[in-house]
Amino acid sequence: METMRAWMAYGQEKMELKEVPTPVPGPGEVLVKIRAVGICGSDMHFYKEGRIGQFVVEEPIILGHECAGEIAGIGAGVEGRRIGERVVVEPGIPCFHCHDCKTGRYHFCNDMKFMGTPPTDGCLCEYVAWPAELVHRMPDGMSYEEGAMVEPFVVGMQAMRNSRIRFTDDAVVIGTGPIAMMTIQSLKVIGANKIICVGRNPWKLELAGRMGATHLIDSKEEDVKKRVKELTGGYGAMHVFEAVGSDETFWQTTELVRDGGTVTLLGLMAHDHTPMPMASVVMHGISFVPVIRYSNLFAEAIGSLEYKRADIMPVLSHTFGFEQGQEAFQKVAHDNREVMKTIILM
Ligand SMILES: [Zn+2]
Ligand SMILES: [Zn+2]
Repeated sequence: METMRAWMAYGQEKMELKEVPTPVPGPGEVLVKIRAVGICGSDMHFYKEGRIGQFVVEEPIILGHECAGEIAGIGAGVEGRRIGERVVVEPGIPCFHCHDCKTGRYHFCNDMKFMGTPPTDGCLCEYVAWPAELVHRMPDGMSYEEGAMVEPFVVGMQAMRNSRIRFTDDAVVIGTGPIAMMTIQSLKVIGANKIICVGRNPWKLELAGRMGATHLIDSKEEDVKKRVKELTGGYGAMHVFEAVGSDETFWQTTELVRDGGTVTLLGLMAHDHTPMPMASVVMHGISFVPVIRYSNLFAEAIGSLEYKRADIMPVLSHTFGFEQGQEAFQKVAHDNREVMKTIILM
């Protein structure tokens, strides 16, 4: 049996490089030789706490779900693909048969297997066998690093779709992590007018400006509500995007959104007990729209990068070699003041 190297995570910040069997592509699958893997906030939850909600690391698992690589093997029945083709991998495998899958909302599939989420292994390893139709062709000019960042960009694009924002609407983005940056860039692509970013790390706020934010508010220095009202003619913004996931910022969305406006939720909450001013929410006609995963957007996102509508490269802040896998995770876990997207290159 052929083997490959894989980083196995055990929860509680323990990770080991192991030899494991190389996967064999089944019918309809291709084998992808992984070239670049991005570290995501959700990987961090599994790495540090060993869980996200109902998903618990019970067996050692390969983390990672943001990746690009090249096709190294082709399973039975796969047509039109070739060895050496450069690709971006879409990490969620839906069942393809249920009502949600058939109606184009496959991210709600109850039988979804998601890369790097227990019990499904991820891509922080040398090879992954994956359904060919979820392995998207990468344009020539795109680097593997950029390819590995398509997944978080797709989250930003899905936020545009869910929010139903229209061009020229004003938007506030709370947060300055990679998902906030991807949301800001997506707002720019879709044609928002004012893009107001709220954060508290000057380095990250400056990056938000480079990604397309037109106004930056440092919440440690300024009265956020007052500033947003000033910037929006006293009304608040038609759209607020929450990309932190804290009780405080969830509440804050209701103070920044305009009457009849929409709050789009990207932050991952760790619990179910966030206090919210529901009387005000109802009285002011505020809509809440969560973003949880995505469907039918990878090819579109890759297209907007190919045609230079969007530029996500400024989000890349650190790269590590494959052997430095644990070092990379430790850096993101404990020293992230000037960390944005960290990529592990094979
Ligand atoms: Zn991710
Ligand atoms: Zn399904």
